[in-house]
Amino acid sequence: MDISASDGALRHVRRHRLAWRLLVHQVRAGMISAMTSFSCHQLSTLRRRWDIAANRHLRGRSPISPNRYIHPRRARSESAVLAAFCRIYGVALPGHLAHAPRNRLLTLELGERLCPTYEAFRACFPQSTLDFEKAVTLIVEIAKNDQIGLERCESCGATVLIDRLAPRGPICEYCEQERRHKRALSRPSPRTKDPGAAARR
Ligand SMILES: [Zn+2]
Repeated sequence: MDISASDGALRHVRRHRLAWRLLVHQVRAGMISAMTSFSCHQLSTLRRRWDIAANRHLRGRSPISPNRYIHPRRARSESAVLAAFCRIYGVALPGHLAHAPRNRLLTLELGERLCPTYEAFRACFPQSTLDFEKAVTLIVEIAKNDQIGLERCESCGATVLIDRLAPRGPICEYCEQERRHKRALSRPSPRTKDPGAAARR
């Protein structure tokens, strides 16, 4: 006998699956609630039932400042890689949605698409400080294209995250380090500034 679940039942299962993954990623209740439609009370119940420890440091609103993706350099590099993962997995937001209210953006579908993308990124960069909520903010800010954006490195063509308000051109960390190194090598050392000085003494 062919038994097919109703759309409502399937969606109910999807909400539970996503809630479990997001709780494991220590996402704040507000964001999980927006994506799964579970209330904070229901999430507390699920957390206890699934025996997932709560992170007491994660309270209040999610961090939203785009500056944290640009500074320091490590954050900029990791953000660029995460943004490239999002493009590969097709999670990039279209620009016209970027300015929509946050509760309209945080959907079950976005959560389901972003979870495997974020998990693939963390599998490659387990020490990264970019948590799931920062990943959400990152894709929203990139779609807005106001303060931060994605460009190609002017030297090697790699994907780089740029500060739209900064005067520097798009350049990846690797190429920037290489340029600094070359500049340091081409700078005359104090001893060789005037080779004739020693002879005149
Ligand atoms: Zn480069």
